[in-house]
Amino acid sequence: MPEQITGGCLCGKIRYTVSQPIQNIIACHCTHCQKASGSGASYNAVVPSSAVTFTSGQPKCFEDTAQSGNILKRYFCGDCGSPIYSQRAKTPEMIVLKIGTLDAPGELKLVMNIWTNSARPWMTIDPATERHPENRPVKT
Ligand SMILES: [Zn+2]
Ligand SMILES: [Zn+2]
Repeated sequence: MPEQITGGCLCGKIRYTVSQPIQNIIACHCTHCQKASGSGASYNAVVPSSAVTFTSGQPKCFEDTAQSGNILKRYFCGDCGSPIYSQRAKTPEMIVLKIGTLDAPGELKLVMNIWTNSARPWMTIDPATERHPENRPVKT
């Protein structure tokens, strides 16, 4: 039986499990993620919504309009403010999970940086990763 992946917010009110392995991390350097994370970037893993189960609490939602014009729902803990995940209104079948909320570090690897055009100058971007000046190309 595979090990259960668990995570949650800082105060512990929101808890979740992920039923499939997570491997790849995408760092987003867009200005909205900088504000929302209070940091240089947000670090995310894209997982099927069906793989994520909330076992405690209900995240609050901030409906953001991304630079692309797309609606991006940003979910966070209403008590401690931890960002938990975001979701494109267009693709509710996928969740963009903030991997800093995982309990264990896991076997994750940062493979891609997006919106590097707006990366803060003090951020170090590994040249070995895939990089995109704006959003990553849409898979067809
Ligand atoms: Zn919390
Ligand atoms: Zn972003």
